[in-house]
Amino acid sequence: MAFTTKLPPQNYIDGQWVDPASGEAIDMICPSDGHVIGKIARGGAKDIGLAVAAARRAFEGEWGRTTATERGRLLSRLGAAILAHQDELAEIEANDTGKPLRLARSDVVATARYFEYYGGAADKVHGDTIPFVDGYQVMIVREPRGVTGHIIPWNYPAQMFGRTLGAALATGNATVLKPAEEACMSIVRLTQLAAEVGFPPGVINLVTGYGDEAGAALSSHAGIDFLSFTGSPEVGVLIQKSAAENHVPCVLELGGKSPQLVFEDANVEKALPAIISAIIQNAGQTCSAGSRVLVQRSIYETFVAALATRMNAVRVGSHKADLDLGPVISKVQLNRVAGFLERAQRDGIPVIGEGRLDASAGEGGFFVKPTLLGPVPVSHELAREEVFGPVLVVIPFDDENDALRIANGTDYGLIAGVWTENGARQLRVAKKLRVGQVYVNGYGAGGGIELPFGGFKKSGHGREKGFEALREYTVAKTIVLNHG
Ligand code: ADP
Repeated sequence: MAFTTKLPPQNYIDGQWVDPASGEAIDMICPSDGHVIGKIARGGAKDIGLAVAAARRAFEGEWGRTTATERGRLLSRLGAAILAHQDELAEIEANDTGKPLRLARSDVVATARYFEYYGGAADKVHGDTIPFVDGYQVMIVREPRGVTGHIIPWNYPAQMFGRTLGAALATGNATVLKPAEEACMSIVRLTQLAAEVGFPPGVINLVTGYGDEAGAALSSHAGIDFLSFTGSPEVGVLIQKSAAENHVPCVLELGGKSPQLVFEDANVEKALPAIISAIIQNAGQTCSAGSRVLVQRSIYETFVAALATRMNAVRVGSHKADLDLGPVISKVQLNRVAGFLERAQRDGIPVIGEGRLDASAGEGGFFVKPTLLGPVPVSHELAREEVFGPVLVVIPFDDENDALRIANGTDYGLIAGVWTENGARQLRVAKKLRVGQVYVNGYGAGGGIELPFGGFKKSGHGREKGFEALREYTVAKTIVLNHG
């Protein structure tokens, strides 16, 4: 029997599950076979208005007076509740996104980690003092921003819930969350768990719905103090413009075209599986997917042949089959990826490796074979644009400067991998890469709650994760005390 959820197609506002003003619901589709797994509320401007007002009341009321210790305990309790419900949450997540069950489970554990981590961090957000003129004491206190809006994508719904709310709640903000219409059923369940562990009314408000309805209403709302957005660069620009109308600052995480630089002295056996996994994870639908492999010309032929062999062994199938990767999220996404591949074929770019479709990849699912192409000219769209699918391109380089020029030569700058056994080169290259995270002899797409994450250029600005996120969700207030 096909999986369905009993979760309500309602918004969660001011501590109550309520019908959206539209009275309408949106079907949630399983990408593995196209069946409807549940419904979410079609929220809009009116619901967002109520949610922002509820968050404001919470922030100006009791929530605004909670101690960091109390907030930390609440977050930790939510982390424990998530772990206790991990089977149920993983099943929802796998059915909603099509990702293999194994990955869904590790996503749920990572979601719990966000609340454990920020639960522990809540009472460690310290202020500062500054030496000043005699007779004065200067203090810098970090205060919450107030009401924070959060607009997140469909690729890692559960993890995004933890990532965007963890730091905001730890620092005492009251939140309004608008998840993606393609997949967010786990978020509805997580919100129920947050209510059960005791988050007071108005502190977490959930309004589901379409981007140009609920999303646009939230990003243009004058009643929010801060906006966190993760999604496409195009929508990032819209969001930023509408937030600017109200002088609302934002943190934006907008994707990438992240390079893996493979030098001739690389440990190939270590690099090969990591490079494959960095593009097939979540069917390539990861902002920090390693989607370009830059290989030094002296080892190009042998390295690429070994990479192709590994790519040919990758298996795609239903989330239930728990293979290397599942389908992409939707028909729209499938067509988008297919468009890139068709144009590559038209332009004569060779396909050098291709994964296999498993029997579980049936009709009605949005399956695409992971594909390795190369050599790809650096000017081609495949070497520059984010595909957001399991498509890996190979580009040769001559030397270190050439590698850096190509690596830094796109509009993006999110993360990078560097493969070399030369210690001096590891650091030299890491420092010259214009990206937010560099992995040396490893690659960490999506992982690492503790590690500040964010980009340069079209990849966005501001930092999520780690202690940096605690800074984003607070503002410094300077208090100057004349005690002379
Ligand atoms: P993707 O291309 O990965 O689907 P989007 O940027 O379209 O990414 O979507 C990311 C999030 O932004 C989703 O929650 C979506 O509903 C929301 N969104 C899309 N369009 C708008 C918009 N015009 N204003 C505000 N939010 C939007």
